[in-house]
Amino acid sequence: MDFVAGHNGMVGSALVRHLRAAGNSEPITQTRRELDLTRQAEVEAFFADTKISTVYLAAARVGGIKANSESPADFIRENLQIQTNIIEAAHRAGVERLLFLGSSCIYPRLADQPIAEEALMTGPLEPTNDAYAVAKIAGIKMCEAYRRQHGSDFRSVMPTNLYGPGDNFDLETSHVLPALLRKFHEAAVQGEPLVQVWGSGKPRREFLHVDDMASACGHLMTIPEGVYWSAVSDHCSHVNVGCGSDISIAALAELMAATCGFSGRIEYDPSMPDGTPRKLLDVSRMSALGWNASITLEEGVRQTFDWMRKHWDEVS
Ligand code: GDP
Repeated sequence: MDFVAGHNGMVGSALVRHLRAAGNSEPITQTRRELDLTRQAEVEAFFADTKISTVYLAAARVGGIKANSESPADFIRENLQIQTNIIEAAHRAGVERLLFLGSSCIYPRLADQPIAEEALMTGPLEPTNDAYAVAKIAGIKMCEAYRRQHGSDFRSVMPTNLYGPGDNFDLETSHVLPALLRKFHEAAVQGEPLVQVWGSGKPRREFLHVDDMASACGHLMTIPEGVYWSAVSDHCSHVNVGCGSDISIAALAELMAATCGFSGRIEYDPSMPDGTPRKLLDVSRMSALGWNASITLEEGVRQTFDWMRKHWDEVS
């Protein structure tokens, strides 16, 4: 049976939709009240009592640039706890295969673009999210260590910036894409003349729809053990997932304004951080493993906009 850890999050819920649509049996899920993933004893008891063959480790504390800058202790502690508990419990319970989900912020702030998997730990991290990044790097290294010591088939996947249905639209903690969708929509509806965008608008980001991400994870998990481990190495086993192209925050803001029907002025707020100047992933490893993204940014943004309006009472 599949266990999706973090099924209430944007990625976890997309994984559940994907596994259902792919005809897999209903994945096992646990609410936070049923199982606190930061508690080692609870996690071990759950794995010992439940028949789990495959784990999708999508549970994490995640957030945008403001939340990461303001609460680094929470980001490093919670993520280390959750992933350490699940990886060790999965090993003890004899889980056959595990997929650890990370993030493209694991790479050095000034990595060569597009960023290949081998760029990991070749330079200093971006300071606005280094605590979160270190937790995610530890997760990759744990999976590799369990492979080398125990022969575990524990794999890792590093997505670029994700967006889509189920995203976080809270302006204090969200990432840029849902934040701008919300800001431009509210301004358009209320007839406001101005929308503020953080930073200079110059940073570039790559965006991937969460349904593409779920399909990439499903694909990776169907690759036989020998094929996967001969495509990666024991000391660099993670696989980047992205769409292969990026866009400036200013161009993204224009797209959001057009999508939301906002025709007022866009103003940049230099008091807010820009973060990493550019984060475009090299996706050739994933491509060679037989998967490419299929949802365009325009299509994905339109669909996410429709989803946001339909769920306005929950998200606003
Ligand atoms: P990052 O990719 O880890 O830097 O995280 P974000 O998605 O939070 O931010 C990406 C970029 O978008 C940064 O340069 C932000 O300054 C910029 N940005 C512009 N407006 C906003 C906003 O309203 N919210 C967020 N989160 N970022 C914004």
